[in-house]
Amino acid sequence: MQIEPDVLKVAGETFTPELRKRAQKAFPSLQFDILDGYGCTECLFMAFGCDCGRQHVPEDWVILEAVDENHQPVADGTLSATALLTVLANEAQPLIRYELGDRLRFYQDPCPCDSPFRSFEVEGRQATVVRVGEVTLSLLAFDLEHEDARRVQMIQTAEDVFEIRAELLTDENPDQVFEQVIRSVVEVFTKNGLAGVKIHKSDAPPQLTASGKFHEVISRPLTPAREG
Ligand SMILES: [Zn+2]
Repeated sequence: MQIEPDVLKVAGETFTPELRKRAQKAFPSLQFDILDGYGCTECLFMAFGCDCGRQHVPEDWVILEAVDENHQPVADGTLSATALLTVLANEAQPLIRYELGDRLRFYQDPCPCDSPFRSFEVEGRQATVVRVGEVTLSLLAFDLEHEDARRVQMIQTAEDVFEIRAELLTDENPDQVFEQVIRSVVEVFTKNGLAGVKIHKSDAPPQLTASGKFHEVISRPLTPAREG
């Protein structure tokens, strides 16, 4: 299919500068470039990107707090452990200090675009990117589906070590499921210059979050040394 869009809007996943370049190259028809909004299911419009590459909070609609593990505010310029969202526009179902799990860093200086709204950068949702060394991969790069498994999960246990967990649909050939998944994961890492990453099979069941949510990939939190 050939399309010639004037404008693109991305949502959902971390949109890296490399991805932006690739999308711009793939769609030379773009007149209004690519809008990189920042939203989630609970609030589709939490922030808007400006030409300076920053995200601005529409503060008359939304309160976005950059906080540490104990939900205490972190100073501007510091990368948060998570973020809390309060939506002022919802009258029917208020969301108050809802934890997003995203890591934010508010800028200390006003944005050169002159917007009166506070600006920040998103380090990415813990659950939506995988980092190994200097390489950041979107979860979309990995295919963790398998016809013989209800769900497959990849957990980063060290910088370059991952384990695969699976909830299988049948007892036949369990090793084959793991082998196939591991092979496809290794392929993705190798293609991205990470041939040294080790992938192991785990007999443990997939891990759920404290609130019972299943994530296909659980990546390791950033080490303090890299928070800068
Ligand atoms: Zn700006």
